Order: sequence, then structure tokens, then C-alpha cells
Amino acid sequence: MTTKPQGSKSAGSVSEGLDHDVLILGSGAAGLSLALRLPADLRVAIVSKRELTEGNTLYAQGGISAVLHETDSIASHIQDTLDSGAGLCDPQVVKLVVERGPENVRWLLEQGVQFTRDKQASGGLGYHLTREGGHSHRRVVHAADATGRAVETTLGDVVRARPNVDILENHIAIDLITAAKLGAPENRCLGAYLLDRTSHRVRACRARFVVLATGGASKVYLFTTNPDVSTGDGIAMAWRSGCRVANMEFIQFHPTCLYHPHAKSFLITEALRGEGARLLLPDGSRLMPRFDERAELAPRDIVARAIDHEMKRLGAECVYLDISHRSPEFIGEHFPTIYARCLDFGIDITRQPIPVVPAAHYTCGGVLCDLNAQTDVPGLYAVGETAYTGLHGANRMASNSLLECLVFAELAAAHIGQMAARVPAPPATAPWDESRVTDSDEEVVVAHNWDELRRFMWDYVGIVRSNKRLERAKRRGDLLRYEIREYYSSFRVTNDLLELRNLVEVADLIIRSAQHRRESRGLHYNIDFPKCDDAVQRSPTVLIPDNYSPRPD
Ligand SMILES: Cc1cc2nc3c(=O)[nH]c(=O)nc-3n(C[C@H](O)[C@H](O)[C@H](O)COP(=O)(O)OP(=O)(O)OC[C@H]3O[C@@H](n4cnc5c(N)ncnc54)[C@H](O)[C@@H]3O)c2cc1C
Repeated sequence: MTTKPQGSKSAGSVSEGLDHDVLILGSGAAGLSLALRLPADLRVAIVSKRELTEGNTLYAQGGISAVLHETDSIASHIQDTLDSGAGLCDPQVVKLVVERGPENVRWLLEQGVQFTRDKQASGGLGYHLTREGGHSHRRVVHAADATGRAVETTLGDVVRARPNVDILENHIAIDLITAAKLGAPENRCLGAYLLDRTSHRVRACRARFVVLATGGASKVYLFTTNPDVSTGDGIAMAWRSGCRVANMEFIQFHPTCLYHPHAKSFLITEALRGEGARLLLPDGSRLMPRFDERAELAPRDIVARAIDHEMKRLGAECVYLDISHRSPEFIGEHFPTIYARCLDFGIDITRQPIPVVPAAHYTCGGVLCDLNAQTDVPGLYAVGETAYTGLHGANRMASNSLLECLVFAELAAAHIGQMAARVPAPPATAPWDESRVTDSDEEVVVAHNWDELRRFMWDYVGIVRSNKRLERAKRRGDLLRYEIREYYSSFRVTNDLLELRNLVEVADLIIRSAQHRRESRGLHYNIDFPKCDDAVQRSPTVLIPDNYSPRPD
């Protein structure tokens, strides 16, 4: 445990505390929809590390899966999800989420989200439904190729208009405040310490309920489709506070990220392959049919591994994704963002193939929680990519993640609503203590360790793993964790230091989970245990922190 010592307070370093009924850390699809679903008589604070809309949700392209057409069925969506999850999905959770899909899409429509319409459609509420890897039907509702932007900006506008919701942008949560940390016999989450990134002051924010909606951790890898905020903060904070985490070895690598020296993290949506795009080797031959009979529509892990294999075999810098056989009108209508962005880099996708490489994309594991999104610490919930609910198992099916954000936000809101009358205001909390720390005189340590961590995670804990690589990663990770702990206890906190502290914690959870799984399954592939083996481990990998105690219900 590495929280700052609490007690005395250095004058002028701590700004006033804040009190709310519900404190939501994170403002993506999960955090925003939760804020909107909570009863209007609860005072809510929603915290965002940068501006309100920045996060993975904003960049989601493909869409949201739900059974909306009469030719599709709940049973089929359930089966596809279970198949993608390679035997590790929780069937009860899959059923719950899939059944609530159509209703949640309707809820988004009520909030004002504009999905792409299809005038010719005989069903699907009149909206165009696309198909993505792993789905046996067209069931992905979308807003052209910028679905996340439509969802995030619409929900953001609605939240801004809510009088019961306070928005704290440019604040990063440092750690949770819990009764156990204050020495109380019964544990409960009481709030969080927040660093105001503008004034550099730390605020203690007390709340009756705290929700982690901080997104994923893909920034732990050198190459990622995720924006800078995805540093696994919620997972690390929960772990430090005594919560179990599960399935951290299952990191989804998206097969097709634009490969260009000046393009930072630009994803080429799977929907392109859903609409017929083909993956080509540098000599123009097709890549996928040799690896899977579903070819380009095979699940992402198979496609990513096939690309990784071929790039290593040929020493190629990238492979190519080609949709130029579709008409320019079709491409312009369905993929306007990708068309425009690629054109910025001199690639006309109506005439040329797109250079692509795989990149870390989605964190399937996370903070273990129940069907109400409750974690192991009473009063603490986790929703969205930061949570492990059991939906994705060993591999997330495309477009199931935004759906999971919405459904679990709804469930968490209902549970908080039920519990609200029974939970008193939290007691006074200790202010943040900066009396024993100084400003850093060696910022280079943070920058160096940040680069080192992300590179060894990419090289040793990436798409293809081995026992030796994992051991190497563990040794390097242990050293970095020790150094960062020392640094953290000596110097005043900064955004970069907090993110690095969380990344190194999450990296350790990923490495330990990967070492624990002595087989290959779903997204986890280890050349020393190349077979999927139910006799070895057909269950999630659950890591338990030293300070864990079961939640008394
Ligand atoms: C390029 C891309 C394309 C995708 N396409 C699809 C798709 O088509 N369909 C689909 O279903 N899924 C897709 N996904 C996945 C999906 O977008 C995410 O899983 C989902 O948006 C996660 O939502 P969230 O609310 O959990 O987190 P996010 O949207 O990532 O939001 C996280 C929030 O937490 C805040 N935060 C983080 N740490 C802290 C902290 N310490 N203190 C305060 N705030 C903090 C951030 O500022 C942000 O507001 C895609 C992801 C990417 C990156």
C-alpha cells in the first residue's frame, strides 16, 4: 500500500473538500450514462481527467451491438458472445447484458443520439445495422464511423444541463478514501482525493457512493489505439484499496491501426472488414484465408495474431487493408471519418489499400464486480472498461463493450438508488498531507520509466508471450515499481507521476495474470503452452490483494 501519509497539512497546499451523494470518476459512456440514470434528487459529481468528452468512448467507430432486427435473436447474440469469450464468459451476465441491449439503444435514442438510418431497412427500428467480427448477424447500430463521438457528445450535453450534476474537468483521482485506511473497523469507500490539474491542488471529495468509470489500461503498451487518459487508474486505485481484479491477461490487440509515422493511435474500424475489406500482404496476396475459414471476419485475436505472425515472418513493417473495390459513394457514406483522416496522410482509400498494424485496444479484465456493479469494498462500484463483469471472458466481441458500459451503468444506478436512503453521509476525512514531500528535481525519471515500461510490455507481454519473456517483464516491472514507489513518497504528485504509478501497478497485474494462466486461450497466447486446455484452467484468473476482505452483505 502506498498512500501518502495523512495527518498534518501544509498551509496553502490543500483546497477545500467537496461533498456529494455520488462521486463518479470518469466521464465516458459508462460515467455519463450512470449520471443520467441516477435519481435526480441525488447530488452527483462527475470527474474527468481532461475535458469532459475525452476518453475511449469518443473514439469508438464501429457501433453498439443489440438485437434490433426480426431475423436476429437474443439466443444468437448470446451464443456469439460465448463463442468469442472462449469458454470464460459468465453465461448469466451475457444473458443479462444481451437482453437489455435493445432497451439501452432506445434509451440512447431518447437522449438524442443520432444513429445512421437505413430507409430500405425492413426492420432494425429503421437504422442501418452493420456486421462485425464474431457476430453471425447484422446487429451493430452506428453513427456512420464515429459512433462514440455521437454518444459521448450527446450524453455530455445532456449531463451539462442536469442541475444535480457537478462536473469537475481536468481533475485526476489519486486514490480512494476508505474507512479501513482511516482505521475504522468496518470498511466502506468514503470518497477520493483529486488533484486539480490546473491549480495543482489536492481536494478531498467525500461521497456516500463512489463509482469507478475510468476506462481501460491500454496505455501500458507502446502501441495503442487508446487516447492518453487510458492508464488503468481505476483498476490500480481499486487494487490498492483491497479489491480483487480478474482476467488481466486478456488484452485485446486491434488488428488494424493506421500505420503512418505521423498518425497517433488512429484505428481503422472492423466494420470496414464487415463491409468486405480484405487484408493483404505487401505482395498483394490475401492473408487471412490461410489462418481461419471466416477469413477477415474471424475474431480479432485470430486476425491480430495472423498479422503479427506474417509481419514477423516477412520482416514487414505493416500489412494492408483494402476496400477500394467498393464504390467511392459507399465508402464516403459509411466511412467518412476514415476516408478523410487517411486522405490527410495522402492515402485515398477509394483507390489505395491502407497500411495497418495491430495495437493494444481493449482491457477485458478489471475490477471484479457483481451484477449490481458492486466491488469488494462497500460503497464502491465499477462500470465500463475498468470493470470485470464476466461478459467478455477471454475475448471481447466487437461492439459489446459500449453495450456493457450502458447496461452496467443502468444496474449500478438502480442499486445506488435503492441503497441511498440507508447510507449516511461519510465522516470527516483527513486532508491530503504534503508536509513531507518536495517538488521533484528529476522529472526525467518519470519520462524514462514511462517509456521503458511501455516498451517492455509491448516486447514481452504483447500478442505472443512466452515463459521467459514474462519472467523478464516481471523482473523489470518489480524494479520500476520499487523506484516509482520511492519517488512517489518523496515528491509532490503530478499528473504524469500518478499515471505512471498506476501503469506500473496494472502492468504487474497483467504479468502476474499471464504467468498464472498455463495454457493459451482467447487473447492470451503463450508459445510454451500453445493449447487451450480446460483441465488446466477453465475459469477466470482472480488476483487477491493483501488487504482484501470479503464484503459483508
Ligand atoms: C479507437 C477505439 C474504437 C472503439 N470502437 C468501439 C466500438 O465500435 N464499439 C464498442 O462497443 N467499443 C469500442 N471501443 C471500446 C469502447 O470505446 C470502450 O470500451 C468504452 O468507450 C469505454 O468507456 P468507459 O466509459 O468505460 O471509459 P472511457 O470512455 O475511456 O472514459 C474514461 C473516463 O475516465 C476518466 N479518467 C480516467 N482516469 C481518471 C482518473 N484517475 N481520475 C478522473 N478521471 C479519470 C477519463 O478522463 C474519461 O473521462 C473502441 C475503443 C477505441 C479506443
